[in-house]
Amino acid sequence: MRTVAIFGFMSMFLIVSCQDNVPPGSQETLVDLTHSFDTTTIYWPTAEGFQLHEDAKGWQEAGYYYESNSFESAEHGGTHLDAPIHFAEGKWANHEIPLERLVGHGIVVDVSEKVTDDRDYQISVSDFEEWEAVNGQIPEGAIVLLRTGFGRYWPDRNQYLGTDLRGAEGVSQLHFPGLAPEAAKWLRDARSISAVGIDTASIDYGQSNDYVSHQELFADNIPVFENVANLEALPANGFTIVALPMKIYGGSGGPLRIIAMVHN
Ligand SMILES: [Zn+2]
Repeated sequence: MRTVAIFGFMSMFLIVSCQDNVPPGSQETLVDLTHSFDTTTIYWPTAEGFQLHEDAKGWQEAGYYYESNSFESAEHGGTHLDAPIHFAEGKWANHEIPLERLVGHGIVVDVSEKVTDDRDYQISVSDFEEWEAVNGQIPEGAIVLLRTGFGRYWPDRNQYLGTDLRGAEGVSQLHFPGLAPEAAKWLRDARSISAVGIDTASIDYGQSNDYVSHQELFADNIPVFENVANLEALPANGFTIVALPMKIYGGSGGPLRIIAMVHN
């Protein structure tokens, strides 16, 4: 009797914990969706790469071991946040984005099969409608993750970006998939979502020169996560995203640690 009672109590605790998004151990699997920052980390062709400077390393005279570094980084490189102010005057900067937009119910829309023959593929409204036909309507407040499959090319710049050229010339040669402007507008107007993430260098496809998908999403303060890793490890639905960027005051973006808690 007593064992049954304890088991019953434990089950109740675990269910409550899941609903509260508290990692309860055995009930959830944690997945890291973040690329490491190092010298190979991919940045936009016009940006400097990530730099780690060693300030101290070794045994100190006082008898303790000590390591300390400084780092230098553009806001927009590696796995990072795009704050709405990046392309929308007066909208949220990093420090203004409410936590409710950064933590929530995640879904994965997988277009990787469609992208294999078309590096310039743009994810359309019909891709979302196909997802909804199987999984039901995109939940209110969802963090929508777009899986193009390009994450598998990281950190090979040629494969991932379509070019390893730098500067303006490099920008003109970018070829990777993204979210079509009409689909960005549809997500914004026809659904009520918290944020969008993608496993490429930009939410707009590589050949965009006016970044309309950025503009459409940011007009309604929808943050974007770029260069998201390991999306192949996630199911289409049924997990929680925690995406916490560096809280740069007035930042237009910044390094992002993003994880998923998959409910088993
Ligand atoms: Zn960005």
